[in-house]
Amino acid sequence: MSNAMPLPLYAIGLGSNRRHVRFGDPRAVLLAALAALESDDIEAVDASPIIASDPIGPSRRRYANAVALVASPLSPPEMLERLQAIEASFGRRTGQRWSARTLDLDILLWSGGTWSDAALTIPHPAIEQRAFVLGPLRAIVPEWQHPLHRRSVRQLAARLSRPKPVDRGASAH
Ligand code: ATP
Ligand code: CA
Ligand code: CA
Repeated sequence: MSNAMPLPLYAIGLGSNRRHVRFGDPRAVLLAALAALESDDIEAVDASPIIASDPIGPSRRRYANAVALVASPLSPPEMLERLQAIEASFGRRTGQRWSARTLDLDILLWSGGTWSDAALTIPHPAIEQRAFVLGPLRAIVPEWQHPLHRRSVRQLAARLSRPKPVDRGASAH
C-alpha cells in the first residue's frame, strides 16, 4: 500500500474475565486476542501492559484489561464487525451486558474523530469514567485528544484519579 495517506488509527480496548479452554487465564486470552487482531488489514502499532481490574456490573470475576493501538483502512462499522467476529471466535456468548465474558473488544478512539449510529459510538462513551481504560490508554497514547472533551488522555486520567470534593446535594450513584 502507498504511504501517501496515513492509515486511520484505532485505540481498541480489550477485556477478559473468563478462562478460555485453550488459551488459559484472562491475561493469556488478551495476549491471544492481540495476536488475533493483526491481519492483512489491521496492523498492530502498539499495545499497553495488561492490567488487572475489579469488575463492574453483576459479575464478581476480576478482569484483565489492555489497549491496543492499530492502523487500519477499515471503516468504523467494518472494524466493529471484525471485533465482534473475533469475540465470537473466542467463544463469547451474546447476552447480558457486563456479564462474565471471555473477550470484550471495544473501539475507544478513532483518528477520524467521532462516529454515532445505532450500533456504534466513538469515542466510547465511558472512557472518561474508567480507570481500567484510561490507565492502559495513557501508557500508549497520552497525548491523544478526546474529540468531545477536548482534553488529552493524560488529562482525563489525571481528572479521574483526582479526589473529588464531596457533593452533599447528590445521592450516591
Ligand atoms: P460497555 O460498552 O459499557 O463497555 P459492553 O462492552 O459490555 O459495555 P457489549 O455487550 O459488549 O457492551 O456491547 C453492546 C453493544 O455496544 C454492541 O453490540 C455494539 O453495537 C455497541 N457499541 C456501541 N459503541 C461501541 C464501541 N465504541 N465499541 C464497541 N461496541 C460498541
Ligand atoms: Ca466494554
Ligand atoms: Ca463491548
